[in-house]
Amino acid sequence: MNRTAESVWDNCLAFIEDNISSQAYKTWFEPIKAVKLADNALSIQVPSKFFYEWLEEHYVKILKVALTKELGATAKLVYIIRMENTYGNKLPFTEKIPSSNRSNMQLQEVDVPVKNKSPELKNPFVIPGIRNVKIESQLNPNYNFENFLEGDSNRLARSAGLAVANKPGGTSFNPLLIFGGVGLGKTHLGHAIGVDIKDKYPEKTVLYISAEKFTQQYIESVRKNNRNDFIHFYQIIDVLIVDDIQLFSGKAGTQDVFFHVFNHLHQNGKQVILTSDKAPVDMIDIEQRLLSRFKWGLSAELNHPDYDTRVAIIENKLYRDGVEMPGEIVEFLANNIKTNIRELEGAIISLIAHSSFNKKEITIDLARKIVENYVKHTKREVSIDYIQKVVSDYFQMDVDTLQSKTRKRHIVQARQLAMFFAKKYTKASLASIGSQIGQRDHATVLHACKTVNNLSTTDKQFRKYVEDLNKKLTL
Ligand code: ADP
Ligand code: MG
Repeated sequence: MNRTAESVWDNCLAFIEDNISSQAYKTWFEPIKAVKLADNALSIQVPSKFFYEWLEEHYVKILKVALTKELGATAKLVYIIRMENTYGNKLPFTEKIPSSNRSNMQLQEVDVPVKNKSPELKNPFVIPGIRNVKIESQLNPNYNFENFLEGDSNRLARSAGLAVANKPGGTSFNPLLIFGGVGLGKTHLGHAIGVDIKDKYPEKTVLYISAEKFTQQYIESVRKNNRNDFIHFYQIIDVLIVDDIQLFSGKAGTQDVFFHVFNHLHQNGKQVILTSDKAPVDMIDIEQRLLSRFKWGLSAELNHPDYDTRVAIIENKLYRDGVEMPGEIVEFLANNIKTNIRELEGAIISLIAHSSFNKKEITIDLARKIVENYVKHTKREVSIDYIQKVVSDYFQMDVDTLQSKTRKRHIVQARQLAMFFAKKYTKASLASIGSQIGQRDHATVLHACKTVNNLSTTDKQFRKYVEDLNKKLTL
């Protein structure tokens, strides 16, 4: 039989079209092109990484059924992602990503680009002659400098990272410690430095490792009685990137072993890059001798991105995903998600998904909904008034009743809950909480907090109130 990729794909399409809504078909299947059929594997080209993820998430079953009908049980599917590369004026490039290997599906990976796989660090100690072992760097090539956009919030860290990448071990930024809050790019920047070094100095041994994994490996080495091998392994690395070192906190053994590794690398002019969610001065339960070493080089902070940087990050992400979005929506997102780039990206993905799936235009209203629903941790200032309103609504009374002098049990409880949450979610003093919730004094508020704590451990129904209200207040 002489079958082409197109003919196989056309048959698949006919089947799929019969089985899903015409809108979904138009959105997700018409843009696909079949490009190759070899070894019973059909390669299809999709317009963006987002597109590929969406297909995998929602249509992998029907794809499997369709393809199996055409090519039999050994059928495989390969995605080819075609996208324009934005930054750096490169030619468009093509990226291949294997179809995911879910248990109940036969779609299989072929042609897996090894560097995208980021395999687990194999236990390096079972192989004798460790110096000959090729060490996988564990770097994620998608986290590079090109797509790490520069702004005031990250300029120092980013330039220091570039300087280190140009001359690993050869600058005074050793160690380079990158610190900052959640979702601000520490992991991305750590990888970017490693990726750039690998690019410029392919012969150098670069290793990215999370502090958590380092700790696990260490514990394992102790269990297997080869702690020295563990240390030796780390001592042969040229560029060591350890992510989230705040996780070493309180782990004396790991800190000790890391201390030895660090000293060895540093003395030998090897580069160490560390990330942490705190500045060295704020780290707790980390030995002094280690802390002082963290401060030897440069500590560079990643701050919250300013408005312009947020806009640039959104636009870059949209461009890379091949999606267009009206300027006012981009502005809306940039104005409303300020403290976490990961959440910003999450909101964009969610927005694109909603709009493509429902074939709706991306509107401000949709954006508003997504920002409200999707971004759970956007910090909204909870006021005492708001708390009183939520609590009284919940118990179907009005705020005046909640504040009244009555001693009726359910009203007293509601009032105590309001006080408890005011203490929990605002910075107001006990006295100020008391005066705002029915003119009580600080001792009453203190008593209320204790009562709520007691009742929620002893009374199931009451605990449910606390949980429900907690949800409403943090939504
Ligand atoms: P952290 O490790 O600090 O929690 P990550 O490095 O995981 O944060 O970053 C969260 C997300 O934000 C990642 O998807 C990352 O690519 C993106 N990101 C962070 N900083 C930037 C930046 N300056 N430009 C583009 N994307 C960024
Ligand atoms: Mg991280």
